[in-house]
Amino acid sequence: LNEPLDEVIKLLARLPGVGRRTATRHAYTILRRGEAYGLELAEAVSRLVRETKLCERCHNHAAEALCRTCTDTKRDARRVCVVQTPPDVSAIESSGAWDGVFHVLHGVIAPLDGIGPGDLKIHELIGRIGAEPIEEVVLATGASVEGEATALYISRLLSDSVAVTRLARGLPAGSDLEHMDAPTLARAFEGRAAL
Ligand SMILES: [Zn+2]
Repeated sequence: LNEPLDEVIKLLARLPGVGRRTATRHAYTILRRGEAYGLELAEAVSRLVRETKLCERCHNHAAEALCRTCTDTKRDARRVCVVQTPPDVSAIESSGAWDGVFHVLHGVIAPLDGIGPGDLKIHELIGRIGAEPIEEVVLATGASVEGEATALYISRLLSDSVAVTRLARGLPAGSDLEHMDAPTLARAFEGRAAL
C-alpha cells in the first residue's frame, strides 16, 4: 500500500460500522472515481467541520447563525420538540411527523457519567419560553433511564409556564429516535400526552 491510500483506509475504518475491509473498498472507489470526485468529497468534509456551528436558537447544527428550521416561517413556532441530539432532529424531519420547531439538549442528565443539567442546553430552553410564543414543549428524549429522568426534570421546571407533553410510549427502552421508522415516530407524536 502506498501511504495516502493507507491513511484514507485508516481514517474511514474509524467510522462506526465500517471495518477495514469496507474502508479499503471505499478508498479504492474514491480513487477509481477520479480526481474531481475525490476533491469534491474532501472539500465537502472540510466545509462540514469548518463551517458547521450551532444554531443560536435551537442548538441544532447550522451553517448560519440560525438553522433552516428556525428561519422557516411555515413551521409552527408555538410548539417545540426537545431532543437529545442533532441526529434525532434529522430522524424526526425525515419522518415528516412534526411541523413545529426543535430544541437540542446535546445529551441527557447522566450523574454516573458526570453529566448534570448545567452541561445541557436546558438553561437555553428556559430562556426560549417567554421570549418566543411557545405554548407546548414536547419532550422527545429517549426511553432510557437517563432520558426519562431528563424529561421529568425539564417538565418540573417548565410545567407552570407552558404545556409539557411526552412522546407516547411504545418506544423500545433505551432506543434512540434515529433508529425508529417513520410510522412509529408519527404514532409517538400523535399519541403524546401531558407529563
Ligand atoms: Zn435552529
